Amino acid sequence: MSPRPDLGPKPRLGYTASLIERAAEQRADAAAIAALESDPRARAYAIGGELVALKKTAAGLDPQFTLPEARALGPTAETVFLGLLDGAARFAIALERSTAEALKAREDFVVTDLRSIAIQGLVEVDHLPPIAEGKALLHWHARHRFCSNCGAASNLVEAGWRRDCPACHGQHFPRTDPVVIMLPIAGERCVLGRSYRFQGSMWSCLAGFIEPGEAFEDAVRRETHEEVGITCGRVSYFRSQPWPFPTSLMIGCHAEALSREIVIDRGELEDARWFDREEVALMLLRQHPQGLATPPSVAIAYHIIRAWVEQEIEFR
Ligand SMILES: [Zn+2]
Repeated sequence: MSPRPDLGPKPRLGYTASLIERAAEQRADAAAIAALESDPRARAYAIGGELVALKKTAAGLDPQFTLPEARALGPTAETVFLGLLDGAARFAIALERSTAEALKAREDFVVTDLRSIAIQGLVEVDHLPPIAEGKALLHWHARHRFCSNCGAASNLVEAGWRRDCPACHGQHFPRTDPVVIMLPIAGERCVLGRSYRFQGSMWSCLAGFIEPGEAFEDAVRRETHEEVGITCGRVSYFRSQPWPFPTSLMIGCHAEALSREIVIDRGELEDARWFDREEVALMLLRQHPQGLATPPSVAIAYHIIRAWVEQEIEFR
């Protein structure tokens, strides 16, 4: 077995380790939520679809607005309660698309997408989890304003954590879409793939949505077989990551590859091949001679790949 490469300190996984206390017990209490909204310590993230508004300040870019500041930016839609931080409320406020676009022209704001904010480190990392929470929740509201059972307009209740239908009395809860993301491995080698949408020379884990009635281990085996023709045996859960593009939860796994021949589904992948551990270590370090690279450390794929390179994976 090759020596364990030195990849430096482990970076934090993006959008995780939220400091927000969700305080779900407060959501149904309209008076408590109103009091939290009027507390001068309350802050809101202002989000318009994929775009997040950031204020330029002397100390850098600040994603937090007071609620009156956020509502003065232009026409807004839903306000949702994210939770408490040191006893003060954090909300997310949906900006209309036109509002977000208009703010791009302002000198005192930066308005950009959350991926860029995370990868470029534009805000303090502790803001990433609540922005992810707000973005995913507001996206759900924007696409669920009508009851999926009877078609009537539904109402936001529970401070944004449910929509109720006044016609059929159906209750609708914000959804999260589980996705498996996995690294098939066989001893000193692993399989990485390239999606058509990847930029540059990036190679990453395979991934796919879990289907109804499917355990995530079975989804790992099915997706791996569909995308690269590899049969997998044991599956080891690694860790998970909220991925608000728009409302996914990435379930990171390693999979024991039982076969070796790769048969690429060209409808899904531009390319896939076996890589050995030394080559992947160079990709993580951004020192690969041909410039091949893994995804950045904000993404769970980096951590799944790195854990294997650092020989931390055991199948049970
Ligand atoms: Zn209904």
